[in-house]
Amino acid sequence: MTNAIVVVGAGVSGLTTALLLSKSNANVVTIIAKHMPGDYDIEYASPWAGANFLPMSTRENSRWERRTWPEIKRITEEVPEAGIHFQTARIFRRDKDMEGPSCPSDPMFDHDPWFQSVLPDYKELDAASLPAGHDSGCEFTSVCINTAMYLQWLVGQCIKNGVVLKRAVISHIREAKNYSHTGKPADIIVNTTGLGSLKLGGVEDQAMAPSRGQIILVRNELHPMITTSGTEEGLPEILYTMQRPAGGGTILGGTYDIGNWESVPDPNIALRIMRRVVELCPEIAGGKGIDGLSVIRHGAGLRPYRKTGVRVERGKLDDGTHIVHNYGHAGWGYQGSYGCAEGVVELVNAIREENGESLVTEPK
Ligand code: FAD
Repeated sequence: MTNAIVVVGAGVSGLTTALLLSKSNANVVTIIAKHMPGDYDIEYASPWAGANFLPMSTRENSRWERRTWPEIKRITEEVPEAGIHFQTARIFRRDKDMEGPSCPSDPMFDHDPWFQSVLPDYKELDAASLPAGHDSGCEFTSVCINTAMYLQWLVGQCIKNGVVLKRAVISHIREAKNYSHTGKPADIIVNTTGLGSLKLGGVEDQAMAPSRGQIILVRNELHPMITTSGTEEGLPEILYTMQRPAGGGTILGGTYDIGNWESVPDPNIALRIMRRVVELCPEIAGGKGIDGLSVIRHGAGLRPYRKTGVRVERGKLDDGTHIVHNYGHAGWGYQGSYGCAEGVVELVNAIREENGESLVTEPK
């Protein structure tokens, strides 16, 4: 017996989920999406991400990121064409940022973080290694993902496993049922529409909101990757850099602006981001300040923020069709991608077992 599964969404969540589901012969997977890798659109978060791996979850909710790291590490080591490389990450903290209204990615700045035993080479930095104005910091081995390459690589892996991708825009989640390439109605719908889940009929999740991130992509190179706990401007302005592999340029960030839907990059914010970066790391521009930066593009993306945290959960439509949700990853969609996709596979397997199906099938 096979299950026709329609995954709605082709961001990192949809593609990773489809990839893991397609590893079993029991699942015949179709992806439908308004936007696909190659598109740059304000409704499509995935291409705008840096993306790196700086854990943001609390210890209690660390499952998704904890389970993603081993697979991201394996791909980095074994699959160079996926567009991921190892980069040292440095996090600089200011005590005053720990006191005031906090950034949602706070656990990253913990002095005793859960991820020190997960990410390699973790160490606290000595005072001599800290930039002026910072009270402490840490360093570990992380990765940076060239998202333009990696999303395409995921598409290729899905196609290799028999997944069929189609463009479609749906206004109610029940419409997804009719898009399986098998020709029969879908047995299971997987919802990975990110911020789209706020307005998609049948989901309309009011806990969803955009967390706008403005970035600048430059040709200049800079490593290690830097992140600080705060900026003099205060929230929503933050400061981070990450150098993408394979000529992907270096991302300068940024902002974490919850509730802001603006798609056009703000030139004043852009100037402040560039100024902060060249002040903290003058070497990126050869000491020439902002004039030494070679800009590829300015951009803004909307992280799919969910007030109550990510939703990896199953339910049923009115007509009894099974639905599994995987959305609301805010700023950690890549670094939680395999953990969350694995969560979806577990929920799909639970549905199959309830239907009396044996889970012992030949893997592809
Ligand atoms: P999306 O990528 O938004 O994909 C949603 C998909 O659903 C799209 O294909 C869309 O077309 C489709 N869709 C939606 N509605 C409909 C509909 N009605 N009909 C058909 N299709 C529909 N994450 C990290 O892990 N590390 C980082 O360093 C990082 N940095 C970031 C920096 C910035 C500036 C931004 C903006 C994000 C960053 N993120 C980072 C977060 C990460 O990008 C997101 O968490 C992730 O991309 C969310 O992926 P998604 O697949 O859930 O959603």
